[in-house]
Amino acid sequence: MKQLIAANWKMNGHPDWASKVRQLAKLVPAPSAEILICPPHLILDTLSAAADETSIAIGAQDCSEFSAGAHTGESDAALLAEIGASYVILGHSERRAAGETDARVKAKAGRAIEQGLRPIICVGESLAQREAGSAVSVVGAQLQASLPDGGEFDIAYEPIWAIGTGKTATVTDIAEMHTAIRDMVGETPRILYGGSVKPANAQEILGIMNVGGALVGGASLEMESFATIVQAAH
Ligand code: PEP
Repeated sequence: MKQLIAANWKMNGHPDWASKVRQLAKLVPAPSAEILICPPHLILDTLSAAADETSIAIGAQDCSEFSAGAHTGESDAALLAEIGASYVILGHSERRAAGETDARVKAKAGRAIEQGLRPIICVGESLAQREAGSAVSVVGAQLQASLPDGGEFDIAYEPIWAIGTGKTATVTDIAEMHTAIRDMVGETPRILYGGSVKPANAQEILGIMNVGGALVGGASLEMESFATIVQAAH
């Protein structure tokens, strides 16, 4: 399977940013990796229209575990799919920090798959957990409790201490964790790495065994940087 290079725009974006999608399509007209942009839900349909007839996929940053109904402020997976999402990021550490539980991530993943979205399930340890030597067991417990029971999905290993900090895990840290995750989940899911991926380190990170792509925050907001990361993938 191709590597997946996913942009997490977080709460950044504007309908005008459709121009970024067109710019990216021009910068990498024939990518060897799969490209995904996850914008704020409010501009997902605009971006999806801009991505039409390009090889760029559009995804959501979260979805509800429920179907339509009395869930104020939530985003329905069926509607996200309807307006152009094909992927959904679930269990990002910024959402876990705001109270998202493994059980909820699992329920959301089940609902997303049912509605034709491919979840990217995020896991990762804190700095204190890494320093205590429990990184692999923490990630293992998150995986066990948050992965869906069936269907197709990807995993993103994102050490919390490396997200938005400029600190990247070492090649050894990434290789060890990705191998441990591969042993736990089997051959099928891609295992993306996330945490301060940028043009300068992308090639090295994407060359590590069992790294199936990257989830990119900060460096995905500027298309020239993001295109360089895409070009480093295979
Ligand atoms: C992220 O938010 O998933 C992320 C990896 O951010 P950054 O690339 O900015 O560290």
